[in-house]
Amino acid sequence: MIPYGKQDINQADIDSVLEVLNSDFLTQGPKVPLFEQTLAKKVGAKHALATNSATSALHIACLALDLGKDDWLWTTPVTFVASANCGLYCGAQVDFVDIDPDTYNLSPKALEAKLVTAKQEGKLPKVLVAVHLCGQPCDMQAIHTLSQRYGFKVIEDASHAVGGRYQGDYIGNSRYSDITVFSFHPVKIITTAEGGMALTNDDHLAEKMNLFRSHGVTRDQTLMTHEPDGPWYYQQVTLGFNYRMTELQAALGISQSQRLDSFVARRHQLAQRYNELLQNLPLTLPWQHPDSYSGLHLYVVRLQLSKISKNHRQVFEGLREKGIGVNLHYIPVHTQPYYQDMGFRPGDFPEAEKYYSEAISLPMYQGLTDQQQSDVVLALKALLEE
Ligand SMILES: *Cc1c(COP(=O)(O)O)cnc(C)c1O
Repeated sequence: MIPYGKQDINQADIDSVLEVLNSDFLTQGPKVPLFEQTLAKKVGAKHALATNSATSALHIACLALDLGKDDWLWTTPVTFVASANCGLYCGAQVDFVDIDPDTYNLSPKALEAKLVTAKQEGKLPKVLVAVHLCGQPCDMQAIHTLSQRYGFKVIEDASHAVGGRYQGDYIGNSRYSDITVFSFHPVKIITTAEGGMALTNDDHLAEKMNLFRSHGVTRDQTLMTHEPDGPWYYQQVTLGFNYRMTELQAALGISQSQRLDSFVARRHQLAQRYNELLQNLPLTLPWQHPDSYSGLHLYVVRLQLSKISKNHRQVFEGLREKGIGVNLHYIPVHTQPYYQDMGFRPGDFPEAEKYYSEAISLPMYQGLTDQQQSDVVLALKALLEE
């Protein structure tokens, strides 16, 4: 089976993890700060905090932005559940903004319309999670302008977009947001097995996220309510979690980071080749905004169902039967039973639901060979033309 995504591990990766295993520190040693500095420097962020997943990075990002009970978090329905669940972790309420039919990202137009209504109802969001679906950045400049006008904070969920660029600059510099989050799950662009990162330029947010990441405990005297009892003393100044990354993961991340640009470049080659090979089929191919360079975590095609004799499920299953490990990103979050219990209904976000009824993620990862890609194209062609 050709999977839809796969990690790329080489001998340098293995050596760097082995080096940690033979060292004094398996956790809380020098590799985590080095990994943080490596990525912060690369993308142009002042602070980077490595975590044990992007999900926990999203959680501490929301906490640092003071999201709580009676607050609203808005995000796109076309995302992994974690982009919305982080609001629920904080006791906030979650709502969604429908997607743009070209980029499949949260639509700034739909956002503006919803903000106008929310303002009248006194239900403006405190936090917006902008997800860079497939690696293509959202229209961050438009979102930033609205955030200034309506007074909400912005988290970029850049789980798909590590190594991508917006207006020429690396995603993660948080130029138009408060905090950016990366994921290093093995299907993403670079991996630490499990792992994530929160990046910000704000000293205060970084300090808060640092506390939430590790039990709310500090050794920094300036944060304590009284003088330390002695040299052993630490103080719990808030309620935090154990969301730390290990040294083994950070060592893998440092080694993977060296190949980040080449991974994304290979993904672009593959996307270009898909674009050429699939252009005359009854498919809507990904549209690329000229302002951005996608991280290209995913290559999603949409079936033009009126032009083919099969339905969505038949094409999907047909590809799986032919050994192509296609996937579907994503089931709109508001249609999950857990969210339906909060009152969301099918039909609430029609563009997202239309996307869901047509989308298929084709294999896309740096190790995919041209030959394998040609097999994917042949299989898809056969199914669409049968
Ligand atoms: C993968 C992913 C996450 C969660 O990442 P983990 O590191 O697995 O916690 C969050 N948001 C999006 C958009 C993702 O794709």
